[in-house]
Amino acid sequence: MPPRPLAVVTGASSGIGAATALRLGDEGFDVIAAARRRDRIEGLAARHAQVTAVTLDVTDEASVRAMAAGLDDVALLVANAGAALGADQVEVADIEDWRRMYDVNVLGVLRCVQALLPALAAGAGGHIVVTGSIAGHLVYEGGGGYAAAKHAVSALAQTLRLELNGRPVRVTEIAPGMVRTEEFSLVRLRGDQDAADSVYAGVDAPLSADDVADCIAWVATRPAHVNVDLLVVKPIAQAAPHKVDRSTRS
Ligand code: NDP
Repeated sequence: MPPRPLAVVTGASSGIGAATALRLGDEGFDVIAAARRRDRIEGLAARHAQVTAVTLDVTDEASVRAMAAGLDDVALLVANAGAALGADQVEVADIEDWRRMYDVNVLGVLRCVQALLPALAAGAGGHIVVTGSIAGHLVYEGGGGYAAAKHAVSALAQTLRLELNGRPVRVTEIAPGMVRTEEFSLVRLRGDQDAADSVYAGVDAPLSADDVADCIAWVATRPAHVNVDLLVVKPIAQAAPHKVDRSTRS
């Protein structure tokens, strides 16, 4: 039997990354599920025979290099690790939050792409899928630092597609709107569970992590000559970042 194609999924310890790792395992990939929290990725690997846990901090160059070492043929990189930090207006935003958001969302993708590109371009070719956001295309009040970082992720993906033209590597940006994952808003709002819950209050059906994993699996399983550049996906209740129907609020 030919070897299974190998996928690397960053930010696989929760939310979209965890759902994507499991889904890609079901789709016939061997999957490296990478994130900082070892216990969580080991728990994920225990749920699927095709999933292997690798500890990774995308803000640490040495950690990224260690993850990539020995991988010589990678079919798919899902550069998904990311975070929003804070919801402050630009006037009072914490510069350290902006610095950390740029580091994890933008430089984290850059480090992983640089480390894995030789292995992605090897063999039958490869595919880089980055998890951007609708905040990479539209802005909203209180979202300046996150939107700036996700705009940069989109710019990185578009530039990479130009620069890789002629080599067998596809580049796709997935840009989700509101996804109800267990940790995203909790991390953004510094552990305030009530504030995190209120993000989704009254919204009939935010996207789930599985919905986004479904999009990633779809772009990754198109024929090798088909490059989906950008896939924007939102719940029907969300027309724009700031335009959300909350009429199911009790
Ligand atoms: P979660 O907070 O559930 O997951 C974030 C993941 O990123 C975790 O697995 C976390 O793992 C990992 N991560 C954070 N920092 C690092 C780091 N330095 N090195 C390696 N891994 C890291 O969020 P979501 O699943 O909701 O978000 C996933 C992606 O989707 C992010 O890029 C996010 O910006 C984007 N997105 C999310 C939306 C939403 O509404 N939820 C909407 C649009 C885009 P660990 O802490 O173990 O390292």
